[in-house]
Amino acid sequence: MNYYSLPKIDLHCHIDGSVRIKTIRDLAREEGMDLPENLEKWLIAPDTCGSLDEYLTCFDWPNKVMQRKDAIKRITFEVFEDAALENVKYLEVRFGPLLHLEKGLSIEEVIQSVVEGMEKAKSQYDIEGGIIISILKTMAFEQINDVIDAASLFLDRGVVAMDLAGSELPGFSYNFIPYIEYAKKKGFHVTIHAGENGCGQNVTDAIVLLHAERIGHGIYISNDSKAYTLTKEQKVLLEICPTSNIQTKGVKSIETHPIKDFYDDSIMVSINTDNRSVSNTTMTKEIKLTMETFQMKLEDYFRIYAYAVSKAFTTDEIKEKLLSHIQK
Ligand SMILES: [Zn+2]
Repeated sequence: MNYYSLPKIDLHCHIDGSVRIKTIRDLAREEGMDLPENLEKWLIAPDTCGSLDEYLTCFDWPNKVMQRKDAIKRITFEVFEDAALENVKYLEVRFGPLLHLEKGLSIEEVIQSVVEGMEKAKSQYDIEGGIIISILKTMAFEQINDVIDAASLFLDRGVVAMDLAGSELPGFSYNFIPYIEYAKKKGFHVTIHAGENGCGQNVTDAIVLLHAERIGHGIYISNDSKAYTLTKEQKVLLEICPTSNIQTKGVKSIETHPIKDFYDDSIMVSINTDNRSVSNTTMTKEIKLTMETFQMKLEDYFRIYAYAVSKAFTTDEIKEKLLSHIQK
């Protein structure tokens, strides 16, 4: 199968984990920063990566160079460009605005720069997209409402949802109930990283307490019948990122990944990159890996594609356009 030419949808892609290495070098040079000699080693999670926390250290360098408006705009544009060049027709990127305030940018300026980068890419390529605002679970709570307020100014310019990301502790959802409620009232969709490395109970909490419409990863529902049933019955889409799940030790290997079992049991799954650079991957690679490992057919792929369309945080008009790519 020609995986490259398949139409694709990526609903789970972190901008700071998807920066081109060359761009980090360019921007670091402009800033007069000294980069480590073997930059790749610092940016790409190795196969021997021990945990989610170790994986997250790969984001340090990208975030160091994402502190200027033009840099953030360029990087966002390039993530969309890289996706468009492998036939991604719809991409939702996500990022944490609070990580980009080190050199004086305001939260609004950071978000504006991402919006501009996406708009530029959409004007040049056959790609649609949306922007998800990530709140890091480990960061202080005081600024969360400021982020929501600033992001809400862009709800009609491409910002579509709120996300909670970062290290996963049991019961984290309880701390975020008022913030996510506030965001929902403002009109944000909600997707939550849960059941990536922790327990299935976190997925139940994210659905019940935070009203998550989609779950980032969610692979641990396989060990928790309540979370499993809830995900299935409420048709919550799992944003699965196969390579990343292996690197963060969420699963031992692709062969033991639960995505095919979920799919066979009609749980809504999607295939995503998570981090194009840190996981050294593309949508083409993730789809090939999943389909070949589990001997899935084109009709299976199209069903997964249609799941992603149905749960994309976008308009009916764009959903129709996305479906037309698999109806030819
Ligand atoms: Zn993620």
